[in-house]
Amino acid sequence: MDREKIYNKALKLLPLNLNEGLYLYENSSLEELMFIANRLRQIHNHGNSVGWMIDRNVNLTNVCFSQCTFCNFCRKKNSEDAYVTSIEEYKSKIEEMYSLGGDQLLLQGGMNPELGLNFYADLFVNLKRLYPSMKLHALGPPEVVYLARKEKMSYNQILTRLVEAGLDSLPGAGAEILSDRVRKIVSPAKATTEEWLEVMKEAHLLNLPTSATMMYGHIETHSERIEHLLRLRDLQALKPESHYGFITFIPWPFQDEGTVLKNREGVSSSYSGTDYLRIIAVSRIILNNIRNIQASILTVGREIGMLSLHAGANDLGSIMIEENVVSAAGATNRYNAEEMQSIIREAGFVPRRRNQKYEFINSPLNPLKGT
Ligand code: SF4
Repeated sequence: MDREKIYNKALKLLPLNLNEGLYLYENSSLEELMFIANRLRQIHNHGNSVGWMIDRNVNLTNVCFSQCTFCNFCRKKNSEDAYVTSIEEYKSKIEEMYSLGGDQLLLQGGMNPELGLNFYADLFVNLKRLYPSMKLHALGPPEVVYLARKEKMSYNQILTRLVEAGLDSLPGAGAEILSDRVRKIVSPAKATTEEWLEVMKEAHLLNLPTSATMMYGHIETHSERIEHLLRLRDLQALKPESHYGFITFIPWPFQDEGTVLKNREGVSSSYSGTDYLRIIAVSRIILNNIRNIQASILTVGREIGMLSLHAGANDLGSIMIEENVVSAAGATNRYNAEEMQSIIREAGFVPRRRNQKYEFINSPLNPLKGT
């Protein structure tokens, strides 16, 4: 295959096919991939600004019927340490978030069979009444599929009710790898590939901002990784032109510590730093219609996070005041606001604080203050 021809196609923002994407991922040198991805980053986000933000992850509940084999966080209903977060706990966590300068709550957690649509809608209404300026980035396609089934409602009806209650954006949680062969093994009780995509399609029609993710490095093939990217790109191509769609794409490697997938099935994470950089670069090359690529510094750490910014990424995500899901499986990287900015500067870029819609909210000269 002619690599130069494929690069020229990518640089014109033309869609690559599976063979072309796979060929680049498996055969190009890392330097070459980073060079092309960097040029594309400049087309999508010109300049040397790198986004970051402050938000807080609060888990609604750790009770989950799904029992995904890569998850260390979920508990059964009768477990001693099962919980549903109380409104008092939200208050103290949110007040701490505000004191640290954050204004977005990332609400995730298990699919607790005892919690239905009214629970989530009432919670969102209460939180918004207490903190009207706070942004809610909450749930994800698997929860929407679960609630639609439970309440016998359409995805559109579930999403509309959640938006009316205060949902500001929908995280791309639970994508893992968009291949039913893989999903049947790692998360058999969760949304299928088509269901995940269908929820996102509805969210895009409603103009609800969303993100796209990929959790790779377990049992998937290289081809399935590339197909995952193509599915996201093709869905994004269907969104109404003026709608948000997927604002960003965030890949992270499987964290294997203590997981059923590792202990029982013998599947260790295949993560390597250089492969992460290839993933970031190939994502930038294939995702010709998703403007932002975010490196998961929480899982890959400082050095690979910095290099990702030279491989097509233009964002390092959040300092994530509290995170319990990937950290339960071994992700131990933590950074405060000062460290995050110094990492970005050390990599040669200008840190720009942003909101959840990836809009910068600070002046480059005064990064912690809004303008
Ligand atoms: S990853 Fe999410 S859906 Fe899967 S078991 Fe854990 S909490 Fe449940």
